[in-house]
Amino acid sequence: MDCCATQGLIPVETALETLLSQVSPVSNTHSLALANAIGFVLAEDIRSPINVPPFANSAMDGYAVRIADLEQSITLPVAGKSFAGIPFEGEWQPQTTIRIMTGAKIPEGCDAVIMQELTTETDAGITFELNLADVKPQANIRPIGDDVSQGQTVLAKGHRLTPRDIPLIASLGINDIPVVDKPKVAFFSTGDELKPLGQPLEDGQIYDSNRYGIKVLIERFGCESIDLGIIPDCPETLKEVFLKADKEADVVITSGGVSVGEADYTKDILDELGQIGFWKLAIKPGKPFAFGQLPNSYFCGLPGNPVSAMLTMYVLVQPMLAKLAGHTKWETPKSIPAKATSTFKKHPGRTDYQRGIYSINEQGQFEVSTTGNQGSGAFSSMSIANCFVVLERERGRVEAGETVNIELFNASLY
Ligand code: AMP
Ligand code: MG
Repeated sequence: MDCCATQGLIPVETALETLLSQVSPVSNTHSLALANAIGFVLAEDIRSPINVPPFANSAMDGYAVRIADLEQSITLPVAGKSFAGIPFEGEWQPQTTIRIMTGAKIPEGCDAVIMQELTTETDAGITFELNLADVKPQANIRPIGDDVSQGQTVLAKGHRLTPRDIPLIASLGINDIPVVDKPKVAFFSTGDELKPLGQPLEDGQIYDSNRYGIKVLIERFGCESIDLGIIPDCPETLKEVFLKADKEADVVITSGGVSVGEADYTKDILDELGQIGFWKLAIKPGKPFAFGQLPNSYFCGLPGNPVSAMLTMYVLVQPMLAKLAGHTKWETPKSIPAKATSTFKKHPGRTDYQRGIYSINEQGQFEVSTTGNQGSGAFSSMSIANCFVVLERERGRVEAGETVNIELFNASLY
């Protein structure tokens, strides 16, 4: 590649730092029922008002005993029962046992539950078929607060709720969840060549695929999406839509119109409305990218090529929206070394995010092969991939057998 074509390109890390340094989290919060809180970011710590479990209970179906009673006799008559939700009541006479079920309250004085499989029913009561030395004090008893203790902070402010958190919060009896308002993200596609789905293509036209990808990612990133459709390459219409988007949303995302040739055109409109940087990133695909501020919102201008649009959404817009949404625990996808099992074409100059398919071989090592066509418009390479193969800026062609770094797709792409 011509050296000059890569001069002045901004490394992706620098672009990300600049972008993040300009964004502050939304401050509005509201309260939501737990059933609707998935994907929201906590506006406050969640502290448990109770112990979980709230009482010591049995981990098994069986018999509650006092070990000292068993030392006298291995057969004990049944004094009563403790079932889940219906605890044993009354006096527990010495030298007796209590039938107990999983989750049932442990009777006062009980120091072990013997599982049903180790007992037989006889005329004289329950015979325990075990070696007493094997009965450990507190066997099969789940103590009070075993999972969560009263007052404990179980989830911190800034955490984004996952399906794994919902039953945990429910177990604490909490239904009103304080959450940060989801940022509103308006988006539209630009281009005279774009056709909406459901209409036949005319000569020179293509379907607007970016808008669909952008919408799902905005939502996967924990934001609310506002679809403003396809906007033709017409300065007056574009300006009108930018103004409308800026009024309605915290962030405005466009695709197309930021590459050389088109940038000047969009640039004039945006320069009039706000402060926007038109960047040339040192990544491939995804070189042209615009970022800045409109009067009321942030602006991200994605490249039009579909793979570039999704990649820049993933690499740059995702962490930015996480910060905006108050999601302080967001993690950058981890890099893992893998052995290349195919060649990867590359020229030095930009960091490549090639699409790859990784697997784990019999020795437990990561291997990765190319998805084939790495063109920035060839979206099938994204669809069949399960990772990015991140090839360093100055690296050239990669031969099979070399080690490369891969980034497994995070949950937003599944
Ligand atoms: P641009 O960034 O506007 O110069 O567009 C670069 C390439 O991406 C061109 O081939 C466009 O036709 C294509 N493109 C732009 N927007 C979209 C879109 N919304 N969906 C699919 N392809 C697009
Ligand atoms: Mg265009």
